[in-house]
Amino acid sequence: MQRRTFLLCIASLPTLALAKAATCCPICGGQLVSVGELADDTSLPSKNLDVWNRSYHGDPSWPFFQNESPVCSRCYIAYTGFSNKWTKSNESADAFFVPLAQAVASFPLPPIALITSRVVYSQEFAGIEASGGRQEAVGMWFRNSPTALDAMHLHAESNNLALTTDTSPSNPGETCVSATSPRVAFEPAPVRC
Ligand SMILES: [Zn+2]
Repeated sequence: MQRRTFLLCIASLPTLALAKAATCCPICGGQLVSVGELADDTSLPSKNLDVWNRSYHGDPSWPFFQNESPVCSRCYIAYTGFSNKWTKSNESADAFFVPLAQAVASFPLPPIALITSRVVYSQEFAGIEASGGRQEAVGMWFRNSPTALDAMHLHAESNNLALTTDTSPSNPGETCVSATSPRVAFEPAPVRC
């Protein structure tokens, strides 16, 4: 399939499905709008790095979120039919309507001097009605530090977090780490706008 056709197919799915399904955020009950209706104030931290990360997500061909994608005007979580999930990522662990799992919010970060990227907290709810459970994660790049990594492994093992590490030739001497919580049940917002 041609790349353009592929992207168009993806882009057409979530909007059509959601238009009939909901107008209110299933997480907080706020009013849904489209990504294109909200401005990204780049003088402030992004409200949702999954939508506005100001690098590759700004590429018009980015398939996950388009101008038509639904986003909540209150909590800024956004839906993508690509993965059939509502997702939000933010540099602050306190920026989420549904508080992050404590094990993720309190994940031991390396010393600031060793961190070489954003520290990104993320939360997702599966299904267009957000009834498929919620899951959270935190991730970052940092300069290799066995001490810091040991602390992360210890925290992950004692809190049932899945820890993954990765490296890249373009980031020598650094490790990317992410810790993900188990999926847990979520009851969609009972109050709708
Ligand atoms: Zn919301």
